[in-house]
Amino acid sequence: MGLQVEQFMCRTDNFGILIRDEATGTVGLIDAPEEGPILEAIERTGWTPSILFVTHHHPDHVEANQALKARFKLKIVGPKAEAAKIPGIDETVEEGSDLAFGEERVRVIETPGHTAGHVSYVFEKSGVAFTADTLFALGCGRLFEGSAATMHASLNKLAALPADTRVYCGHEYTLSNARFAMTIDPTNPALKARVAKIEALRAQGKPTLPTTIGEELSTNPFLRPHDPAIRKGLGMETASDAEVFAEIRKRKDVS
Ligand code: ZN
Ligand code: FE
Repeated sequence: MGLQVEQFMCRTDNFGILIRDEATGTVGLIDAPEEGPILEAIERTGWTPSILFVTHHHPDHVEANQALKARFKLKIVGPKAEAAKIPGIDETVEEGSDLAFGEERVRVIETPGHTAGHVSYVFEKSGVAFTADTLFALGCGRLFEGSAATMHASLNKLAALPADTRVYCGHEYTLSNARFAMTIDPTNPALKARVAKIEALRAQGKPTLPTTIGEELSTNPFLRPHDPAIRKGLGMETASDAEVFAEIRKRKDVS
C-alpha cells in the first residue's frame, strides 16, 4: 500500500500528475497545467480526483483549475501567500500544514524563490515529494519573485528530506539542466554517468523524472555549492554557500 503516481506531459514541457492513495482509493492532482491531457489521464487510469494541490500561481500550473473544479467538484488547496492569484482556491496551506489524503499525511514546506509563496508537498509515509518549480532534476526554478538567498534556503529544506525520497517536478527540463551542470561540475563522475542516462532516456522520448533527493545531492550543482571542486572551478573557494549558489543561478540565467 502506498501512493501511486501517474505522470504525463501537458503543454510543451509541463508535467501533469495524478496521485492515488492505494489504501482508500483517494485521488488527487498536483497542479493543473492543461485540461485536455489531464482529462485523458483521468480516463486512462479511471482515477477521479477529489482534490487539487496547487504549488504556485503561474498560469502553467493553474490554467485548468476552474474547468476541473466545475467537472469534478474537487477541492483546491494552495499556498496562503498566493491565495488571491489561485483560481477556485478553497483551502490555504502554509509551512507545516498537515493534511490528510486517504491514509497518507501531506506535509507542506514553503519553498519560495521562484514565486514568493511557492509550496512543496511531501507525502512522508510513501516518501514522495512534489517540488514543482523549486527543485528540478539537476536544476532549480528561475528567480521570478525571490532572491538567490531565498531560493538557496528553500532548496536546503528539500535537501534535508530523506535521501530515498522520490521527487516529482513541474517540468521536463533535465537535459538542458544536465548540459549546464556539466559546465559547473565537469569532473563529477556521478554527474557524467547521469548525463549519459538522461541523454538515452530523452532520445527515446521518455521522462527523466522522478528523481531522488540522494541523486540530486550527488549531481545537482544547485544543491552542491559547498563542493570543493565546484568552488575551485568558479574561483570562489572562500565564498559562502549562498554566494556560490547565487553565482551558479546567475550563470544558468545567461546560459
Ligand atoms: Zn512556475
Ligand atoms: Fe512552471
